[in-house]
Amino acid sequence: MSDITELSKTKYCKGLQCPKILWLDHYKPEVGENLLSETVMENGNLVGDLARKYFGEYSLVDFSYDKSEMTARTNELIAAGAENIAEAAFLINGLYCAVDILHKDGDGWDIVEVKSSTHISDVYLDDMAFQYYVLKNCGVNVKKVYNLHLNGAYVRKDELDLKGLFIMEDCTGIAMEKYSAVEQAVARIRDYVSVTEEPERDIDLYCEKPYECGYKKYCGRHLPEHSVFDLAKIQKRTAYKHYHNGIISFEDLKANQKSIKLNDNQWRQIDSVLEDRPDEINKEKIAEFLSTLTFPLYHLDFETYQQAVPEFYGVRPYQQIPFQYSLHIEQEDGSLEHREFLAEAGTDPRRALAERLAEDIPMNVCSLAFNMSFEKGVIKRLAELYPDLSERLMNIHDNMHDLMVPFFRQDYYNNAMQGSYSIKYVLPALYPDDPELDYHSLEGVHNGTEASAAFAGLASHTPEEIEVIRNNLLKYCGLDTFAMVKVLRKLKESAAPGR
Ligand code: SF4
Repeated sequence: MSDITELSKTKYCKGLQCPKILWLDHYKPEVGENLLSETVMENGNLVGDLARKYFGEYSLVDFSYDKSEMTARTNELIAAGAENIAEAAFLINGLYCAVDILHKDGDGWDIVEVKSSTHISDVYLDDMAFQYYVLKNCGVNVKKVYNLHLNGAYVRKDELDLKGLFIMEDCTGIAMEKYSAVEQAVARIRDYVSVTEEPERDIDLYCEKPYECGYKKYCGRHLPEHSVFDLAKIQKRTAYKHYHNGIISFEDLKANQKSIKLNDNQWRQIDSVLEDRPDEINKEKIAEFLSTLTFPLYHLDFETYQQAVPEFYGVRPYQQIPFQYSLHIEQEDGSLEHREFLAEAGTDPRRALAERLAEDIPMNVCSLAFNMSFEKGVIKRLAELYPDLSERLMNIHDNMHDLMVPFFRQDYYNNAMQGSYSIKYVLPALYPDDPELDYHSLEGVHNGTEASAAFAGLASHTPEEIEVIRNNLLKYCGLDTFAMVKVLRKLKESAAPGR
């Protein structure tokens, strides 16, 4: 087992968030969950590799489990007159850091911390302050501390422009200001983690920020089945305030109804759990919504992905790029036709998708999406990009209706929706245990995040693997629009006369 008091920059930042994370990482890692998405890590690696070229030629300190090997290699490179050193390693008194880029600055060095986000957050400042502290203690003449992060406003042209893609922000003043705070925090964290018996630590906002902690289930295992944290749309700060005031369960909330401010939907959620209320169905409102739809009706759903470093012309970092859609065309008698589009791996999917969409959905028909602001945003950006298709695309945009509306307004509500109007809750609430609508039974792709990751990595697979993944993507997206058909069917049934 490693020495728990040894701190890297990652461990230091975790320890600042909550030292118990480090204790559990060391003694009970099995009770945690890994909440870091692979896509986030891949983006970080991609951006990190690219940023190394920001200052031109560089030397890389290869990773080794033996930290002294890395620090020795760093010293060799410094002695040899290197101008830029990637992963420059420093170790002193059990404090270790590998600087993303150590950049020569006259008779000293600049620390350059690379981030794949488009802005600086407090945790990055702590990370940089830790590096400054370690290097100063190692006797390095640190001139500047920079954060090099992506520029959210950068729009890719034919060639990638590194100077445009990145923004370099000077954080030297803050790193220097935090010097003694780092020293105190290191001592505090070490004191906390040095005990072998599990320390007590109550849950609080630090379980959410700056990163959602993977031990939340473990540390919150005392919470009742329906707690204040399960209320739909409750702000974390408010939930923790009630929790620390001893108002934790739905029963507690109900007992304090006079002094607690919740919205109508949240009270309804509480009542439906405590009283096991029957479904609430406002037939008139549902009928009114249905009367706005015309047939044939085009149920539409897009899948999109994002690139930290834009590969295609006209794309910004993290812009949503549509690569797939599913379309169920429903006639008034309920008969269905299915159409779909899935871009080829490694291509810019936008033009081909926009052309097919404009062919598949005729002018002046009614289209339907669940939470249509997303679909509308995708269509609008495509219309702006391709003026020749703009009229057709904007016609789809302008004739779109939102299937979420009756659930958002709670015209149709049942207990299983748990106060939510997201399709993730609505669908199983309307069709519990329906194998036809079971996303868990799909192969490989079960949600939008997995779909994005599958498409983003598609080009790196063999042709056989690509076929399997494409098939999984088509099934997943197809189920999304089929689910919409079924949701609409349930609304029609509920509004039918005599029910
Ligand atoms: S869940 Fe909260 S209390 Fe538990 S380790 Fe994580 S941050 Fe600390």
